[in-house]
Amino acid sequence: MEWIGRVGAVTGAASGIGAATAQELAARGVHVVAMDIDPAGLSATVAAIEAAGGAATAAVVDVAERAAVQDVIAGVAAGHGRLDLVVNCAATFLARGLDVTGDDWDHVLRVNVQGISNVVQAAHPLLARAPGAAVVNTASISAHVAQPSRWTYNTTKAAIVTLTRCMAMDLAPDGIRVNVVSPGWIWTPEVARAAGGDRAAWEPVWGRFHLLRRLGEPAEVARAIAFLCSSDASFITGTELPVDGGYLAMGPEGL
Ligand code: NAD
Repeated sequence: MEWIGRVGAVTGAASGIGAATAQELAARGVHVVAMDIDPAGLSATVAAIEAAGGAATAAVVDVAERAAVQDVIAGVAAGHGRLDLVVNCAATFLARGLDVTGDDWDHVLRVNVQGISNVVQAAHPLLARAPGAAVVNTASISAHVAQPSRWTYNTTKAAIVTLTRCMAMDLAPDGIRVNVVSPGWIWTPEVARAAGGDRAAWEPVWGRFHLLRRLGEPAEVARAIAFLCSSDASFITGTELPVDGGYLAMGPEGL
């Protein structure tokens, strides 16, 4: 019952973990404001939610564009008069190492880090008025480990863990909890692209990095995010929840 009548904004909602989270929250009764740069993907997410009896609206927006994000949240205020939950899943996977350019850095920092800041800043006045308000950001196991040619992506994911702690401190006086999930390898369209669509070939390769010896599903991350949004997590803030099948627990001896 706690979910009915609540409004939640989910970025990156056109695909993968964001789409699964939008569907999970909507299935519980949240009206989802689905935000993404991909209009076709957003339409598919909203259609899936409505087909399952839930409610959602699509907002095509680049989270890196501060004014555009503020417009979307102003629309939420005008249309719903409230915003209870924010889930930040949008990200660029731009991975560069020694070949990184200044433009690469600008892009990846603007989308992955400033994008979260833009959404939370714009949403703050509404969240501050919503009892039990919560923000969940999405980092990664990549925040904690070296991977080849990943200066850009991995650095932004580490930044998101620290950004979450700072946000949790500053928003606590308003009763807003802020946490971050760090997924392991999840079979999303992004990962499927990297695997050339061949899950059978790549599941054993990437799955062995996890104690559970498999890839995760977007819905498994979505349920963890929903937990952090819920009153079951009412005394949890400023923390990171790995949803990683034991990736970060496993040292080299586990391989
Ligand atoms: P995905 O590519 O399926 O979804 C990402 C979505 O973000 C896309 O719909 C894309 O259009 C959107 N997006 C990208 N740039 C945007 C922008 N500037 N403004 C608005 N929307 C934008 O990816 P995913 O695998 O579902 O990843 C979701 C989140 O989970 C990301 O933060 C990612 O870093 C994180 N993550 C994923 C994995 C994994 O294995 N899939 C692992 C760890 C962390």
